[in-house]
Amino acid sequence: MYNFFVDESARIGGSFKISGKDHNHICNVLRMQVGDIFLVSCGGTSSLCRVTQMGEDTVEAEIVEEDYRNTELSVRFYLFQGLPKGDKLELIIQKTVELGVAGIIPVEMSRCVMKLDDKKKKSKRERWQAIAESAAKQSKRNVIPEVFDVLTYRQAIERAAELDLFLVPYENERGMVATREALGRIKPGMSVGILIGPEGGFDEKEIELARTGGAAVVSLGQRTLRAETAAVTAVAMGMLHVEMELDGDGQ
Ligand code: SAM
Repeated sequence: MYNFFVDESARIGGSFKISGKDHNHICNVLRMQVGDIFLVSCGGTSSLCRVTQMGEDTVEAEIVEEDYRNTELSVRFYLFQGLPKGDKLELIIQKTVELGVAGIIPVEMSRCVMKLDDKKKKSKRERWQAIAESAAKQSKRNVIPEVFDVLTYRQAIERAAELDLFLVPYENERGMVATREALGRIKPGMSVGILIGPEGGFDEKEIELARTGGAAVVSLGQRTLRAETAAVTAVAMGMLHVEMELDGDGQ
């Protein structure tokens, strides 16, 4: 079932008025008709809607079932990602949005190969946000996660320190005790930062700064994972813990 994101202004009583590129998609690409149904995500919830009118510029759809499905986690995971080479961040964004991440913050780190000037940061961020929107639609999220401005490492540590919990998977960390202990600290309603290094990993000073900033430095196992594998693994580990231990109905 298709899922469209609209802002609150599109809501008119018990209906939504959809315009712009989604109007074009509904009419000319999907060729929907009056009576067809789709999901509308607005203000963090998703409603089941049925097309009632198809105009030149807007499609009107009545709400059939409000709050039809909540696909959001009760914990907000923020992925702080050391800028990887090439277009790997696009893959990381797509996969972690599917996994339920609440936001993604690209981070400049000492061993990052990719260096972006301000103009490039702006254009890249627009592309990254479009990828997040597309992944949110495909995975039927209730919200579109935000891809934030690129931060310096120090800014990232300061931002992560404001969260309830801050996990730093570190390639040289050994043993899973700290990992298990950190997962056990995750509770519903929490905000959790996860910081993943670039291909070159963390340098010692960066890890020390993270520890000083209150990070729980953890291992993701005995093998060295690529940055994109580590990002997906860490978010998936948190998501499954939440879905099974915290959000699940105990089944
Ligand atoms: N250059 C590093 C090396 O050769 O040891 C590898 C860095 S790895 C490609 C990129 C990032 O993934 C790391 O900085 C870390 O955040 C994460 N990572 C990879 N393997 C990990 C593991 N076994 N445990 C924890 N984090 C890991």
